[in-house]
Amino acid sequence: MSGFEGAIQDLIDELGALPGIGPKSAQRLAFHLLGEKEGQSERLIAAIQTVKTSVHFCSICGNVTEGETCGICADSRRDISVICVVEEAKDINAIEKTRVYRGVYHVLGGVIDPLSGVGADQLRMRELFARLADGTVKEVVIATNPTVEGEATASYIARSVTPMGIEATRLASGLPVGGDLEYADEITLGRALEGRRSL
Ligand SMILES: [Zn+2]
Repeated sequence: MSGFEGAIQDLIDELGALPGIGPKSAQRLAFHLLGEKEGQSERLIAAIQTVKTSVHFCSICGNVTEGETCGICADSRRDISVICVVEEAKDINAIEKTRVYRGVYHVLGGVIDPLSGVGADQLRMRELFARLADGTVKEVVIATNPTVEGEATASYIARSVTPMGIEATRLASGLPVGGDLEYADEITLGRALEGRRSL
């Protein structure tokens, strides 16, 4: 959809390229930003610049952080004998909201998806296995999304960690198949965590 020219269309195109924003929303946002006088545009620009310069990934788990390690890895009250493996950093937020889980996390950065050319080497899988090497971790909770790729990735991790004497568990059923953790409600996700089963 186009019809405008120059800068306003460039802004519509950029906004429309964001996930979850359709052409109509992009146009509405662009005109909102163009017309607003409360400094919102400037704050948005500053927030984007700050996030791009000061936020990076935790050196241990891959979560987003402004420090060397994220708040969860730095928290001595967390149980470091349990690692919950998630696809993306945003999934940590979904699980934290359930208040059920007290272990730590590991962000893979995606899932194994041969059709898209993503194998284990393209993910933070080596970093995961390195964290399991010293014998501290007793359980790996695999919380990849309940999709075909998420299940295949879960099987791969389970096959790799079980011979190391580490229990691999998967969230209980009840999560919508083909869905995304971030859209599961807190109660369903909390129950799926509590009812996790051994793989
Ligand atoms: Zn971390």
